[in-house]
Amino acid sequence: MKFLISKQFLMPKTTKHKEGNDDLMDKIVSLCKRRGFIFPGSEIYGGLAGIYDYGPVGVELKRNIKDEWRWEMFRLHEHIYEVDSSILMQKKVWEASGHTSAGFTDPLQECKQCHHRFRADHLAEEGVKQCPDCGGQLTEPKKFNLLVETHLGPVQDESSLTYLRGETTQGIYVNYVNVKTAMRASLPFGIGQVGKAFRNEITPGHFIYRLREFEQMEQQYFVQPDDAPKYFQYWREERMRWYLELGINKDNLRFRPHEKGELAHYAKAAEDIEYKFPFGWHEIEGIHNRGDWDLSRHSQFSGQDLSEADPKTGKKFYPYIIETSAGADRLALAFLIDAYTEIAGGRTTTTKSIKEVEVVLKLDKRLAPFKIAVLPLSKKEQLITMAQEIAVSLRGHWMVDYDETQSIGKRYRRQDEIGTPYCVTVDFASLADKAATVRDRDTMGQERVAIDKLQNYFQERLNNN
Ligand code: ATP
Repeated sequence: MKFLISKQFLMPKTTKHKEGNDDLMDKIVSLCKRRGFIFPGSEIYGGLAGIYDYGPVGVELKRNIKDEWRWEMFRLHEHIYEVDSSILMQKKVWEASGHTSAGFTDPLQECKQCHHRFRADHLAEEGVKQCPDCGGQLTEPKKFNLLVETHLGPVQDESSLTYLRGETTQGIYVNYVNVKTAMRASLPFGIGQVGKAFRNEITPGHFIYRLREFEQMEQQYFVQPDDAPKYFQYWREERMRWYLELGINKDNLRFRPHEKGELAHYAKAAEDIEYKFPFGWHEIEGIHNRGDWDLSRHSQFSGQDLSEADPKTGKKFYPYIIETSAGADRLALAFLIDAYTEIAGGRTTTTKSIKEVEVVLKLDKRLAPFKIAVLPLSKKEQLITMAQEIAVSLRGHWMVDYDETQSIGKRYRRQDEIGTPYCVTVDFASLADKAATVRDRDTMGQERVAIDKLQNYFQERLNNN
């Protein structure tokens, strides 16, 4: 497959796919690059479509999203266990899952003129009937395997062929019995994992919305078949609650049940949680009742018995699976967009930038890359020494940024743009009163706090969520 690279930060060449507020997406992409969230992959070589790298600030944001998900799944819920399975698995896993067989893969349409290929479902979603790149005529939809191929071992032939995993879920199923036995688990229980997945997406785009290398956060809840509808409802509500509690505006979230024709043939029920992106409503997480498809297929293909016996009747059955499947990168994009706030006319009064639009990233404190920034008012040695001591004392507890460059106004704006909830400024009065000014990102309120009380002050505000 030819990789298509477009000019502007590798936004999709298929600009006709974009609709609505493109301007906002451009602003987010530019902010991400400028402030160290996300960079185009292999940028100095011209980039690689569908591949992005996280910079120092973005790494923290994505880590916080994954940590919040882990906290929710493995600490707040009982009997959900974490695994970290390999990216490379036996080829047979993907045969069992159906990913390599025709009939399961995503249908594509090819342009008869420029030969670019597009996902038929994406074109239909956006009402596109001709090639988005050149306007040429499209073929009828055909099947195409999205798994990324590789070879394991010294010889490159059919026997060494395998795939980079297309989803993290399969690593859970192959460990079902291992986890159940080791943890002495009985139904209902869950297994989850966070990790990389790879798909040879035909039309990567919308920045980090559709990538070829991305991270998933998936959880499989194994239940008695009769209980599946109940747990499906439970998990759809739990997952929506998680987004709302992490501050996403409820008007920008909705459920979208899959239509009958859209359901995977084995699925009993499926709903997406969608976010209102500037380019339209799109999936950020799927909640699926997968029936007994997965464990029965892996039993069949591996020859291992993955069934359970009913404790009363002794009758064998395969557990049903309720899956919650989210993408860390898509969520990072949704959280960034939702938090992005422009303040017309500016709100900083200490710099010349007074009349400019100011940007504040109103991320939930738990997701903010840095929790606190320590800023000496000037480069005077005594102020720098004091500020650095404060930064050191807070670093053991939170991610702290220290910045002594540029004017204080510019430094506040940088922290606002990366979503730092608190700035601690050390000024000349600090030398005498041993106190510093704490500025709140959202209210711009300023409070004078004794330096030896700073730790308690932040403990109350940052650790009580
Ligand atoms: P889509 O229809 O958008 O291709 P999907 O239904 O194939 O998504 P799933 O296989 O259900 O997606 O994957 C679960 C989650 O993984 C998605 O909700 C999304 O958050 C994430 N995800 C899937 N594909 C990608 C991708 N190419 N880039 C980034 N995230 C992805």
